[in-house]
Amino acid sequence: MQWQQLLFSQGFGSRRECAALVLAGQVRHDGSAVQDPRQDVLPGVREGLTFEVNGQAWPYYERALLMMNKPAGTECSRRPRHHPGVLELLPQPLRRRGVQPVGRLDADTTGLLLLTDDGLLIHRLTSPKHHVAKVYEVTCKHPLENGQLQQLLHGVVLDDDPQPVLASAVQQTGDATLQLTLTAGKYHQVKRMIAAVGNRVLTLHRSAFGPCLLPAELAPGQWCWLPALQLA
Ligand code: URA
Repeated sequence: MQWQQLLFSQGFGSRRECAALVLAGQVRHDGSAVQDPRQDVLPGVREGLTFEVNGQAWPYYERALLMMNKPAGTECSRRPRHHPGVLELLPQPLRRRGVQPVGRLDADTTGLLLLTDDGLLIHRLTSPKHHVAKVYEVTCKHPLENGQLQQLLHGVVLDDDPQPVLASAVQQTGDATLQLTLTAGKYHQVKRMIAAVGNRVLTLHRSAFGPCLLPAELAPGQWCWLPALQLA
């Protein structure tokens, strides 16, 4: 693959803009500037290969997969209306190559958000058929009662569907806090399930999504690259 093609595939602009970056000496690999936009990437393109653009290091990934610690007060939609969008927290090349959130978190929900430009992966992770587990840390307004935890496990009926929805695991972590594991992703599902058992969500944080756990060192608003997921 030529350097101008590689840069194009990674979101650095049109082919012409990518060629111009190389000609301006702004692309470096293995300690030296790439001379010719048409030069082949040697010894060969591979996942994780690193190069520099304008002094910033970038890994090459055919498909981007990122994990973000979503801060409160941000929206996951492409056209945010009331708060800044999570995509604004990413550098332009990632937005340009079409990275988007895998599912959505509410504006006031914090924690683990996956983002990718791989449409098949988005489908694989969000389709109810695949039962990918998501773990939420919930703070409720009122102390929890045992009956409420049992109801969440056995299923509660939400207002838009007579079919009950249930948590695949529930663990009380404090007087009014619990960890809830869901494998479906209905609109406002945690908040509506907690409301259906007579309580109310005060704060909501996602700590895990499939095989990914939010690392403690990833501060709100920060993101990192992930290697391809190993999904069952
Ligand atoms: N359930 C909710 O109610 N909100 C979220 O952001 C995620 C799950």
